[in-house]
Amino acid sequence: MKVTPGWDDDDDDSAATSRRTAVRETVHVLEALSATWAGHGCPASGDCCQLRSTGRSPWLWPSEWWVLEASLAEQGRALPPAREDGGCPFLDASGRRCSVYGARPSGCRSYFCHRRTGPAVEPAQATHALLERLTKLNLGVDSEAAPKSLPEWHAAASARL
Ligand code: SF4
Repeated sequence: MKVTPGWDDDDDDSAATSRRTAVRETVHVLEALSATWAGHGCPASGDCCQLRSTGRSPWLWPSEWWVLEASLAEQGRALPPAREDGGCPFLDASGRRCSVYGARPSGCRSYFCHRRTGPAVEPAQATHALLERLTKLNLGVDSEAAPKSLPEWHAAASARL
């Protein structure tokens, strides 16, 4: 993915550089996570993206949110508004498909509901190791960084518009 940060206008050069590096590393971790879960599948109903009705939401480190922002920039898209149905704002108009699939965060790559197909055993150890890498690289950018839910990131970004 081309990294097109739109968030570094106020940053000094070193902060912007470390964020860009974090985005690149995060893309690698996310791709590795998808590879780790490659044998697993689901009916792709989009039900798990209905965040309000499920009461569940992916939690993202800052670099995962930056990857989403970079994906939007690459697509020439603005931040989508919140959906009235409470679904993830990154769902497409059908409400069934992710519009940022290649940039989706770790939680979207490693969460499967009871309809999961594939190996009986989940790759918990490899997943944990990759999530540790995400943690470390984010804390390397900002020692006080913390994950937030996707709706929280979206609300904060919307408020800045
Ligand atoms: S980012 Fe994509 S996969 Fe993740 S909850 Fe939103 S629409 Fe679903």
